Amino acid sequence: MADQIEGRCLCGAVKIQLEAPAGWVGVCHCRMCQRWSGSLWAGFPADHETITVTGPVRRYRSSQLAERAFCETCGSHLWMRDHKEGAPYDLMPGLFDESRTWPLQGEIYVDEAMASMAMAGQHRRATAAEYRAKNPETEGVSDE
Ligand SMILES: [Zn+2]
Ligand SMILES: [Zn+2]
Repeated sequence: MADQIEGRCLCGAVKIQLEAPAGWVGVCHCRMCQRWSGSLWAGFPADHETITVTGPVRRYRSSQLAERAFCETCGSHLWMRDHKEGAPYDLMPGLFDESRTWPLQGEIYVDEAMASMAMAGQHRRATAAEYRAKNPETEGVSDE
């Protein structure tokens, strides 16, 4: 795997350089991700010290816990990130050419998935309750 990769939004105004990419993708089917992404959300984690961002980034505070960022010009989704200082990024895989060959590592909120977005294959799966039990800070977090 390449040590450094570069991604961009649809219009090219935002560029993201990344060192040591994760090499896998995770999916979330929660109601907030459905609304934001149109169907399901896919992302991969990156330490904040490994990425460099340039361009017109807009941030939307989607919950008490996290922000979601997008390109001000074309609207391409860029990342989701906790508000905490030094929090890792969850970057959108589609920004990077390299991620097109990465495997699906797991999906969460599977019990809230749209019927049209059922995913086949051998990967980790967690329901909303299972995910929240492991991540107690997400309890009660929603946009509604
Ligand atoms: Zn753009
Ligand atoms: Zn979600």
